[in-house]
Amino acid sequence: MIIACDFDGTIVTHEYPKIGKPIPFAIQTLKKLQEEDHHQIILWTVREGELLQEAVDYCKSKGLEFYAVNSNYPEEEPAHRPARKLVADLWIDDRNLGGLPDWGIIYNMIHTGNMYKPAPQGNMEDLQQHRHKKGLFERLFG
Ligand SMILES: [Mg+2]
Repeated sequence: MIIACDFDGTIVTHEYPKIGKPIPFAIQTLKKLQEEDHHQIILWTVREGELLQEAVDYCKSKGLEFYAVNSNYPEEEPAHRPARKLVADLWIDDRNLGGLPDWGIIYNMIHTGNMYKPAPQGNMEDLQQHRHKKGLFERLFG
């Protein structure tokens, strides 16, 4: 799979234009997805020029090198890229709907191919029982 991964707020905490603090297991997870699961990881960020190079160097210093950076493949020239469109199978970004999951969850979702938990299935009675399950506060204080 081709996986596009954001930098600020995803690999490190969002302190743009500075390099933020490492987000736990981000680099390790991306390396594992590359080396063990053979996915192609593309760095996909708004960073350009020197700020982009700082992000690339940061990742490299932690042992993570990307298949491509802000492009579909290593040799792609910006001029050949209409509207900077990226062809990826999957994006990892802190601006995902629902926010950025824990990197352990991200790894499991990609590794198992189980990308989401479907809503509970069943008849009306099952669904009503599910809805009436007591939440934590109800169990503690109800
Ligand atoms: Mg971001």
